[in-house]
Amino acid sequence: MSLILVGDFMKKLVIGNWKMQKLSSEIHPYFHPFMNKSFHNVDLALAVPYLFLQSCQEAHNGTPFKIGAQDVSAHDNGAYTGEISAAQLASLKISFSLVGHSERRKNFHESSEIVAAKAKRLQNAGILPIVCVGETIEEKPHFQDVLKSQLEPVLSLDPKNLVIAYEPVWAIGTGMSASIDDIKRVHGFIKYFLKEHSYDFSSVRVLYGGSVSEKNASSLLQCDHVDGLLIGGASLDPVGFDKLIATLG
Ligand code: PEP
Repeated sequence: MSLILVGDFMKKLVIGNWKMQKLSSEIHPYFHPFMNKSFHNVDLALAVPYLFLQSCQEAHNGTPFKIGAQDVSAHDNGAYTGEISAAQLASLKISFSLVGHSERRKNFHESSEIVAAKAKRLQNAGILPIVCVGETIEEKPHFQDVLKSQLEPVLSLDPKNLVIAYEPVWAIGTGMSASIDDIKRVHGFIKYFLKEHSYDFSSVRVLYGGSVSEKNASSLLQCDHVDGLLIGGASLDPVGFDKLIATLG
């Protein structure tokens, strides 16, 4: 059972994503501003490089963060040099992992079927998958078709241990977040699509990601159908991230 899901479901979930950034020497200083803090309205989490999972788990003691991974192998175990399995993550008591981030879909040609297979491995190991979906700028006029094809393989997963992150590719790292109207429309569509498949999917949380900053985080989080945020660039500086979280009430 995932640690995040035993928290208050009404709480919003805010996840920082370090991507392939930070060095070992930066880990302990990162957590200093968050020591002995608690944020009542949000569950806080951080997706870190595999290499730093264990040291982050030690260093974050006394802070409100859960530590998770950014990816997992689609394979169970065996001769897959360089891969990390869901069972290996579970053996470190990792509670969640991103899968299907657009950078992986694009740079490593991960199909929606592979992404769903990875999410399944995580669920089988008792880890919460955060499945990222989102359209490119060219795909924006027909976002519904794109999202349907990304979400369909996800419908075979257990809805009780699943989070979706909507991250329009054109908004990631560009400084140009989606508008409130865009987000309401797309999150509404995702929730409708999931619920239409099965009522059990109506409780799946849907996060927004893409150029979230201290300035826009609060209004994005208050938007209809937004259950949390996935934050890349603005999670890298701990002092700035702490200020961003403070705006969330
Ligand atoms: C991300 O990495 O998932 C992301 C949304 O990045 P940024 O916040 O920098 O746009």
